[in-house]
Amino acid sequence: MSVIRVHDKSFDTYLSEETILKRVKEIAATISKDYEGRRPLFIAVLNGSFMFASDLFKQLTIEAELCFIKLASYKGMKSSGNVVTSIGLEDDLFGKDVIIVEDIVDTGKTLHNFLPKLIHQQPRSLRIAALLHKSEATEFPLELHYIGFDIPNKFVVGYGLDYDGLGRNLKEIYQLT
Ligand code: 5GP
Repeated sequence: MSVIRVHDKSFDTYLSEETILKRVKEIAATISKDYEGRRPLFIAVLNGSFMFASDLFKQLTIEAELCFIKLASYKGMKSSGNVVTSIGLEDDLFGKDVIIVEDIVDTGKTLHNFLPKLIHQQPRSLRIAALLHKSEATEFPLELHYIGFDIPNKFVVGYGLDYDGLGRNLKEIYQLT
C-alpha cells in the first residue's frame, strides 16, 4: 500500500488501476449486452467522470453516442449537493436511451436534483452508471443500474476525482487515511 499527499491530506491506495479497469470492462460488457441493437446516448457528468466515461466508452461493442455536461460544484471535502448549472446538454433526449455516467454517487442529491430535468424531455429509457457508490451515505435513494464499486463513506481521490482541484490524474483511487 502506498501513501500519497494531496494538498494537506494523506491518502492510501484503495483501488488499483488494474482493479478499476477490470471492473469498467465488465460494466461495458453488461451495457453492450443490455443495449444490443440500440444506440444509447451516454451523458457523462463533468469533471469527475471524464476518465471513467473514456475507459467505459472505449470498451463498448455497440454503437453509442457520448456527450459531457457540467452540473454541480463540489468544494473541499463535503458534498454541497446543490446543482448550480447544467451546461452542455444540447441533444434532444426525446425517445432516446439515455445512460448517465457519474464518477461517484454520495448522498444522491446531485442526481436527485438533475433527473427531473432529463425525465421532462421524455427519453425512451434512463439509467445511471456510477463508478463508485457510497451506499452508507445515501440521503436521496436512486436506482443505480450499473455500479462499479460500493465503497465506505470516506473521501476518495484519483481516476478523475479531485481534492480541491488536484489528484484527478492519478491512475488509482486513493482513500483518506
Ligand atoms: P452527491 O450529490 O451524490 O452527494 O455527490 C455527488 C458528487 O459529489 C460527485 O459527483 C462528486 O463530485 C462529489 N463527491 C462525493 N463524494 C466524493 C469523494 O469521496 N471524493 C470526491 N473527489 N468527490 C466526491
